[in-house]
Amino acid sequence: MRAAVLHQPGPISKQPLTLEDVPIPEPGPDQVLLKVEACGVCRTDLHITAGDLKPQHDAIIPGHQIVGRIERTGKGVNHPKPKSRVGVSWMGGVDGDCPLCRRGLENLCDNPIFTGYSVNGGYAEYTIARASFCTPLSEGRSATTLAPLLCAGIIGFRSLRVANVQPGDRVGLYGFGASAHLAIEVLHHWGCEVYVATRGEQHQQLARELGAAWVGDATEKPPVPLDSAVTFAPVGSVVIAALSALRKGGIVAINAIHLDHIPEFDYDSLLWGERQLRSVANMTREDAKDFIALAMEIGISPRTRIFALDQANEALAAIEHDEINGAAVIVP
Ligand SMILES: [Zn+2]
Ligand SMILES: [Zn+2]
Repeated sequence: MRAAVLHQPGPISKQPLTLEDVPIPEPGPDQVLLKVEACGVCRTDLHITAGDLKPQHDAIIPGHQIVGRIERTGKGVNHPKPKSRVGVSWMGGVDGDCPLCRRGLENLCDNPIFTGYSVNGGYAEYTIARASFCTPLSEGRSATTLAPLLCAGIIGFRSLRVANVQPGDRVGLYGFGASAHLAIEVLHHWGCEVYVATRGEQHQQLARELGAAWVGDATEKPPVPLDSAVTFAPVGSVVIAALSALRKGGIVAINAIHLDHIPEFDYDSLLWGERQLRSVANMTREDAKDFIALAMEIGISPRTRIFALDQANEALAAIEHDEINGAAVIVP
């Protein structure tokens, strides 16, 4: 099969992914072999190819927003059935018995498997996944519009949970890329007012089209105090901007697996008053199930730009340069 493989992390200008012919993997016990229909491209993939996240192997195939069809199942797999369509996300497996898993916090498992990082992912024609971490997906939607739901969507949804968003709240979204442009649809479904702070005319324009109550950039303050905010940009100064927009008792959830540096800030004015700063780490299978059901119910439809497998480096470069309005998706 053809796959985009990372051997040596480096800047995207050095084209770190190479297109190669590699053997189709064999599903082991409790695993399935998927034929990849589409795979979303996430900012995390950029952190992996750049080496911001420490390499786990000499060679890895990235990609963790996989829509695929079950080609073959390994020993002991009853579900999902062959030929059915499933999604595979960043959380590729957990041990199930560490102290955090036992508390129901599988997103924080001490021994996690991360798709496209600790095991091979979906920038390929086929991939392997753990059967119990496959989410059933609808046949009635195109693979390319389903793919961005699997990380941008699910982790954006988890961010709203971590920020404790309640119906009717005033919520800030800092950054308006793949994840935020899906989160805004969930927020509107919940009757929330959404305040978007983002750079770039095209992202601001998309936020207006999708019904934001206010659009500015992170140097401007929203016109009202916010109940909560989610930051999507991997930039610490944006976290401070979000904190400064909160009412007392409000929460900022940081949806970024890697952040450059949070500047020093004034506790008395920014965190006092029971304001909270929280990070969003990974996702649970329950987040996946709940979000996919909600996305189908309200008909969330990502804006996408499609790339071929041999354009994987270009897709990542487009994310790095903030050129994608919506989400990038690879179709092998
Ligand atoms: Zn992701
Ligand atoms: Zn665990």
